[in-house]
Amino acid sequence: MLPKGANLQKIRDENRTYAITPHLPGGFIKPDLMRKYADVAEKYHGVMKLTSAQRVMITGLKAEDIENIWQELDMKPAMGFANCVRSVKICPGNVFCKRGKQDSIKLGMELDKLYHKKEMPSRMKLGVAGCQNSCAEVYIKDIGVMGTDLGWDVYVGGSAGSHPRLADLLIEGLDYDEALHIVDVIVRYYQKNADIERVGQFIDRIGLKKFKADVLAEFYKGVSNTTQPLVPSSEEGREIVPVAGGLTEGTLVLGDKITADSVISDIIRVYPQTIPVFRSFGMGCLGCPSATGEAVSKAAGIHGLDVDEILAGLNKVI
Ligand code: SF4
Repeated sequence: MLPKGANLQKIRDENRTYAITPHLPGGFIKPDLMRKYADVAEKYHGVMKLTSAQRVMITGLKAEDIENIWQELDMKPAMGFANCVRSVKICPGNVFCKRGKQDSIKLGMELDKLYHKKEMPSRMKLGVAGCQNSCAEVYIKDIGVMGTDLGWDVYVGGSAGSHPRLADLLIEGLDYDEALHIVDVIVRYYQKNADIERVGQFIDRIGLKKFKADVLAEFYKGVSNTTQPLVPSSEEGREIVPVAGGLTEGTLVLGDKITADSVISDIIRVYPQTIPVFRSFGMGCLGCPSATGEAVSKAAGIHGLDVDEILAGLNKVI
């Protein structure tokens, strides 16, 4: 059983080690909290690791210590699910950096407050940079916002990892409120229309032209309409119908039994009701193209799980 608020890191000689990664908005941490991290890591023989999402992971931990560690940090276990807003990466911006053109901390912290852990069709990462040096990596974020002399430019569809994609420029020269508004429009459009796919995969599937046209049409309708559900403007009244993506089509069709060789992305595409079953086994990687490209047997091995138990759970719900 996965300890609450921890991730399985490694299985070596049948021993499992876990990591915890408390949420640190913008990567800002007060000295007192940093000391607590260090004390806890030392006491429980953990290793501290800075993550690319501007957090401090404590890894190499034992399952039985996890609950005490959260208590000693005086924090609630960082619970979450795979398909949500994972992080908002924020650079120091014009508050701390001599090159900063805009206040990336203010905008980034607001976006973190609004969207962190918000459920999405797939995992989502945001970045906010104070100038075109892009230290918050806006070109490889699902939504990236970059400060210029004229305001904020917004990029969409970037990702790193095993399926890298540079983001596309959506709109330039927004003020603070407009930047928040366009992110809201993008998020709702994506939530309403995307399949289990990153923003970049979604854009590649429907076309950048259509994505831009629909999102900008909604954006220019004005703030008064933003609480209404989005309808793609160019195809009024019709939702986008997901079409086959290019990842791992073809190992499964509706009616098939799920086997150890079935690929996870096919299973969740054909039988979306299996998503909670995967999560119940602690397999939270459902938005990750690499993880979902694996067969059930391989994923079970990585997670140290019994493949027959997983198959029984999956086949029960289809
Ligand atoms: S992106 Fe610009 S403002 Fe932000 S840290 Fe880098 S140089 Fe400074």
